[in-house]
This record gives sequence, C-alpha cells and structure tokens, in this order.
Amino acid sequence: MLNFFLISFFPFFSLDYLKSKRAQETCLYCYQDSNPPQVPVISLGTKTLLCLPLKQEMIPGHCFIVPIQHVLSTLECDDDVWTEIRVSKT
Ligand SMILES: [Zn+2]
Repeated sequence: MLNFFLISFFPFFSLDYLKSKRAQETCLYCYQDSNPPQVPVISLGTKTLLCLPLKQEMIPGHCFIVPIQHVLSTLECDDDVWTEIRVSKT
C-alpha cells in the first residue's frame, strides 16, 4: 500500500529505491525502530555485530559478522567498519 502511494504521488522515486527501502525494513540483521535484530547476536561491537545463522549452519561454528548499518554489500562499508570486521576475524 505504501509503495502504491509512493509511486502514485511521488513518481520520481525509482523502483530500485523502493526495493532497497523494503529490503532494509525487513532485514533480519538490522535494528528496526530500536528493536534488536531477529538473529541470535553473540557479540555487539561499535560498527558490527557477530551473530549466528537463523537456519542450519553450513559448517560447525558458522557465524556472521554483520555491519550494524544496513548495506547491500560490504563494498559499501566505511574503513572503520572494515577495521572492526578484520579485528573480529582474528
Ligand atoms: Zn540490514
């Protein structure tokens, strides 16, 4: 309904923008209106969080290092996020 409203009254919004906004609103790894991520969080850093997969792990000990700020790819991350990712891996 919101997407219909936005497209009807604000046709300058691109479909990519709406898809990106929808993906961020339903992201399991992000804080949504101060609600914690829906995945089990092991550790919370200043820029990243360490969490377990919601479904079956691929290998024993499988976990994710996820930027707190929603990004489509880690290529979008700033240097301070990359630094924290590198420190988390060690
Ligand atoms: Zn996210």
